[in-house]
Formats: sequence, C-alpha cells, structure tokens
Amino acid sequence: MPVTHISNENGLKKSSIASIISVVGSENVLTDKTNCWVYGYDNSRKHTAPDMVVFPENKTEVSNICKICSANKIPLTARGRGTNTTGASIPKAGGLVLSFERMNRILKIDTGNSVMVVQPGVTNGEVQTAAAEHGFFWAPDPTSGNYCTVGGNIATNAAGPRAVKYGTTSEHVLGLHAILGTGEAIKTGAYTTKSVVGYDLTRLIIGSEGTLALVTEAILKLTPLPESRATLSATFKSTQAAANAVTKIMAQPKIPSALEFMDSSAIEIVRQYNDLPIADGIKALLMIEVDGSKNTIDESIEAIKTATSMPDQVNFHIARSEQEAGKLWQMRKALSPALRKLAPNKINEDVVVPVSMIPALINGLEALSNQFNIPIVNFGHAGNGNIHVNLLFDSQNKQQVETARPCLDKVFELVLKLNGSLSGEHGIGYEKRDYIKQEIPGVTLDLMWRLKQQFDPVGILNPGKIFPEEFKITDTS
Ligand SMILES: Cc1cc2nc3c(=O)[nH]c(=O)nc-3n(C[C@H](O)[C@H](O)[C@H](O)COP(=O)(O)OP(=O)(O)OC[C@H]3O[C@@H](n4cnc5c(N)ncnc54)[C@H](O)[C@@H]3O)c2cc1C
Repeated sequence: MPVTHISNENGLKKSSIASIISVVGSENVLTDKTNCWVYGYDNSRKHTAPDMVVFPENKTEVSNICKICSANKIPLTARGRGTNTTGASIPKAGGLVLSFERMNRILKIDTGNSVMVVQPGVTNGEVQTAAAEHGFFWAPDPTSGNYCTVGGNIATNAAGPRAVKYGTTSEHVLGLHAILGTGEAIKTGAYTTKSVVGYDLTRLIIGSEGTLALVTEAILKLTPLPESRATLSATFKSTQAAANAVTKIMAQPKIPSALEFMDSSAIEIVRQYNDLPIADGIKALLMIEVDGSKNTIDESIEAIKTATSMPDQVNFHIARSEQEAGKLWQMRKALSPALRKLAPNKINEDVVVPVSMIPALINGLEALSNQFNIPIVNFGHAGNGNIHVNLLFDSQNKQQVETARPCLDKVFELVLKLNGSLSGEHGIGYEKRDYIKQEIPGVTLDLMWRLKQQFDPVGILNPGKIFPEEFKITDTS
C-alpha cells in the first residue's frame, strides 16, 4: 500500500487558491510572500513560511476550507497568536495557516450558570477582563495571557501558576464546537458541569495541538473571584529544604493558589535585574499565593508559615501592600524574557516530576550542567512539580553548540527516571516529537495515531507535529 506524507512541495494550485477565496473573500486571505512570511514563526523562534494565510469569520467558512484542503491534500495549520514554544503553529509542510484572529468575539456571559461562550480567537486576557466585570475569572492563567488565545490555550491545555489550586484548561472547558479534517462539524461536552454521555471528546481535543480538530467555539467554566489574596515568599539555604516545604504545603488542606520555585541561578538573574532584597547564600526561593474569603486568609497564611518553617529556612515574608506583591510577581514574570536576553538561543523545557522528586531533579540538573559545561537555570510551578529548565545555550560557543542537544537528551532521561513527564504545559509540537517515544509506549502511541486518522483521515491538520517523522498517513486512493 503506497504511503504518502502530506506535503506541499509544489505550492498551492491556482484553482485551490480560487476555491478558498470563494469561501472567505479576498479581503480575508494573504497570498503575497512578504505578508505570509510573518505567519511562519512562533515562540520556538523557528520559521517556515505558509503559501497562504486565511482569516475565517465563522464556523461554516472553517468547515468549507477543511473540505477544500482535504480534497486537495493541502496542509492546514491553525494559529492563535503564535506564542507557543514548540513550533506547534509553524506550517512545517507549507500550505495554509488558518488564523483565528477574526473569530474573536465573546458570545455569551451567563453569570447564573458561571459560563462564558467564546470564539477561539479571543485572548485569555480579554476573557479575564470580561469575567472580572461580573465577579468571575477563567482559571487558566498562562503568563502570556494578554497575548495568547483561548483556541491556543485549549489546543495546548495551557496553565499558569494558579493550576496548583485550580487545575489546567482541561478542567475549565465544558464543551466545544469543532471542525474535523474532513470539514464535518462536531459538538462535544455539555453546557452543564456534570455530564456522562458518551466518550469525553472535549478532553481528547484539549491538548491535541490542532492535529485532531479546529476549535470554533468553546463553553468555558468560570470561577468566582476570591475575596482576598496574599503573596508570601520563603527563602532557604538548601534546595532540599525548599522541596520539603513544597511537599508539606501540598499535604495540608490550605492549598495555595500559586507555589512557584526559583533555584540559585534563577535568584542570581533576579538580583541582576531587580532591587528586591535577597540575602547571600540563598539556594532556593518559594513564592506563594493564598486566596479565599477575607476571614480565612490569615489562617491560610499561618498554615503556609508553619509548613515552610524548618531549620534551613532563612526568611518568611508577607507582602505588605498590593504594590509589593505586584513587584514580586513582576519579578517572576520577567525571568523568562530576562533569560532570553542573556541567551537568545536558550533551550527552554517545562518538565514535570512528582513533587517529592524536585530535589533529585535539581541536583541531577546541576550535575548535567557541570558535565556538559552549560549553565542551567531552573524555576517554575513547584506545587505541580512543573519546572522550567533553561539551558543557556550560547550559539557563539562551539563546545556548547555541540553539547546542548546531548545535554537535553540527558535531561529528559533524568526526568523519566524520576517518574516524570516531558512537558507540563508547552506540549510536544515539532521541537519534541523525536522524544515522545521515550515517554509513550509504542502501542499507546499507535492508538493515538489511529485516533488521529479517525478525526483527520487525509492528515491535513498540522502535519509533522506531535508524532515522530515515521508516522505517516496511508494513502488508500
Ligand atoms: C512569555 C510567554 C509566557 C508563557 N507562559 C505560559 C504559561 O505560563 N503557561 C502555558 O501553558 N504556556 C505559556 N506560554 C506558551 C503559550 O502562550 C501557550 O501555549 C498558549 O496557549 C498558546 O496560545 P496561542 O494563541 O499563542 O496559540 P498558538 O501558539 O498560535 O498555537 C498553539 C497551538 O494551538 C493550535 N491552535 C490554535 N488555535 C486553535 C484552534 N482554534 N483550534 C485548534 N487548534 C488551535 C495551533 O495549531 C498550535 O498547535 C508562554 C509563552 C510566552 C511567549
């Protein structure tokens, strides 16, 4: 049986371009090479230009475009705002980029049922602003919130610091409208917070990186805003002590709404870019947020204070004003861009280990940093064991150029040995597809591939992503 990989070696046929324009109108496409160029990048900093960019305005247009692409075997890559870090929205096989930026409306805010219905191109920040006007928030809080879209959040199962208490995107979407690779429209989930009717396709599509279906509408579950919040910090003379504190915090009932970790190298970066007073000799810092009703917040602070109190603790601090708390969070948010300035080619991974394995991970990373002579800076969502591992890779240093990838291989090997997972929030995309087999057993990965073929039989949706090179669509025509 012949095997083909969806590719677009000859560019788009004039007839296909004309068919697409007849669906969306010429004002909703880009075909000029220069204009298309800018839709070929994402935050992985890699680039492949698409042949055409299409801006659909409704579900019917998305469906008709999929039908044309399926009939003509044209690759189609969905795009929110291109903030993902794994090359997930780069059109590796050329073809079409389908940008959802003109499907950006909030369709309904139903406060009686704590529900918001949105189109996929609305940004996370716009959802938060609209929800806050009614006393609610949408729990997924990626640091990129002001720029990234709900469609992108769904496709990557995004989450931020507050996932430790509120969970990830998958826990805050009730249902979806989506278009399959064939152009068929499906509706998943329900408008209610409980429903056990058929397979849970909503959670299958969440995190599927635009490879199974294109999300055209989402029913979001809102959460009431807490009455009160407090930001705390704790510093330690050893990583082990900080990790013990994390385990103790997570084992008591006053679960924080954020629990962030920085290792000594991350603290050094903060010192360079910030005037926050951090004593010498500190090996680890925890930033903690608690939230709840006004009359329980002091109890929560006290519970965290008790959990973090141990011989190697240096300091426990409660931010005294909103301004001080804001400055602490600003420092945390500035870390990633500051590292990018220091090392524009840095490799940034978001591995996860069971919380009790954090010290073993940090010690192991320190050993790898010494072995490969590559600085590694670690920080992230300690309450979930989700650590951002940054290999500060200098493209001018020949030795580091040669050893960065082998060092990364060892990082992933270490994470899996510690019973962890390769990605907590960024996903696989193109950048990590060669590593997926290390975590997912062959039979399970084959089942995922068979599922992909049910949703997208011709293989037009985001080809070349998640699955390693050898996974190809069988051409039965
Ligand atoms: C400074 C910075 C901080 C970040 N912080 C976080 C963080 O704290 N937590 C976190 O999880 N991520 C974080 N990210 C990564 C990124 O913001 C998220 O992955 C985000 O969800 C991507 O949204 P987007 O709209 O930019 O989507 P894109 O990057 O455009 O696309 C991401 C994926 O979604 C698919 N897609 C987009 N729209 C649709 C749709 N409608 N239907 C089907 N598939 C679709 C694309 O094909 C692609 O596979 C950060 C990125 C940056 C640059």
